[in-house]
Amino acid sequence: MERTLSIIKPDGVKKNVIGEVIKRFEANGLRIAAIKKIHMTKAQAEGFYAVHRARPFFGSLTEFMSEGPVVTIVLEGNNAIAKNRELMGATNPKDAAAGTIRKDFAADIERNVVHGSDGPETAAFEISYFFNALEIF
Ligand code: GDP
Repeated sequence: MERTLSIIKPDGVKKNVIGEVIKRFEANGLRIAAIKKIHMTKAQAEGFYAVHRARPFFGSLTEFMSEGPVVTIVLEGNNAIAKNRELMGATNPKDAAAGTIRKDFAADIERNVVHGSDGPETAAFEISYFFNALEIF
């Protein structure tokens, strides 16, 4: 059993595809261990994406992630990190495989509907950024 953090980003929430995204997780063996809707401040988005601080798109990305509410989710299942990344598809929807969340719903490389942790250490940091132990089941 492994846990990972998923975020349905502000564009996904605005497109009203929260249910569509969650349906794909559940249909593929991932369980919702925790879930909440929040609206991050710019500073909170900057803290979440601190590893990307030096990237040229950091300002734009954190502006986007704080423009409206997101849905944060702890997913649990076998190989949850890799499974979630597979369901999400490539960062740029143009490169994403058919049937992936980003291929089906994303507009561009930034507004790409979902976030998913990329490894065990990132998953642990990202889950603890939004949830405490009493909120995960
Ligand atoms: P992910 O793990 O597939 O989400 O991709 P990364 O960790 O490389 O990037 C984090 C997030 O930054 C992506 O999901 C996009 O929202 C955004 N992003 C990545 N690359 C670019 C880029 O070249 N330009 C812009 N504007 N945003 C990007």
